[in-house]
Amino acid sequence: MVIGILALQGAFEEHGAMLERLGTEHFEIRQRKDIERPFDGLIIPGGESTVMDKLLRESGLFEPLREKIKAGLPVFGTCAGMILLANKLDGGKPCFKLMDITVKRNAYGRQLGSFFTESEFNGLGLVPMTFIRAPYITSAGPHVQILAEVDGRTVAARQGKILATAFHPELTDNTAVHNYFLQMAKG
Ligand code: GLN
Repeated sequence: MVIGILALQGAFEEHGAMLERLGTEHFEIRQRKDIERPFDGLIIPGGESTVMDKLLRESGLFEPLREKIKAGLPVFGTCAGMILLANKLDGGKPCFKLMDITVKRNAYGRQLGSFFTESEFNGLGLVPMTFIRAPYITSAGPHVQILAEVDGRTVAARQGKILATAFHPELTDNTAVHNYFLQMAKG
């Protein structure tokens, strides 16, 4: 199993460190030639979604990655990564439009820009969750499975082989969510 990590911007190194801990082979994706080698799953990290959107298009990675995900490549988007996967944004232009969710960017406002909590994740027990200028999911289609909520708001969901979290599991030392993604990618 080999996982490609989109490394245009944002918190990609932390995902690499997490996969390292889990003993999973991984490599960074920066340009088109990087995706000529085979890989079994993709991580889209947190960062700034508008910048990543722009860099995806400029690098020529947008179309081929979109085709691969559409064809069934398992993908895990965290925070900005979730924003990039969404079909709709509350007040913004969506990017990949591959997941039937509506996402609100910077949804917690300025005061609660960043916070930490713990919440149940898909029956796996309490998972530590770091939120940084985070979005949340305001609505989801019928094929979307809700995996975690915080204060009644959806912060993790899955549709087929697409997993998205509003929080950053790579910034904690809990491996449950990455493990869940790897199992999903294997399955
Ligand atoms: N607020 C950022 C955005 O809109 C996401 C923040 C993050 O990824 N930590 O892209």
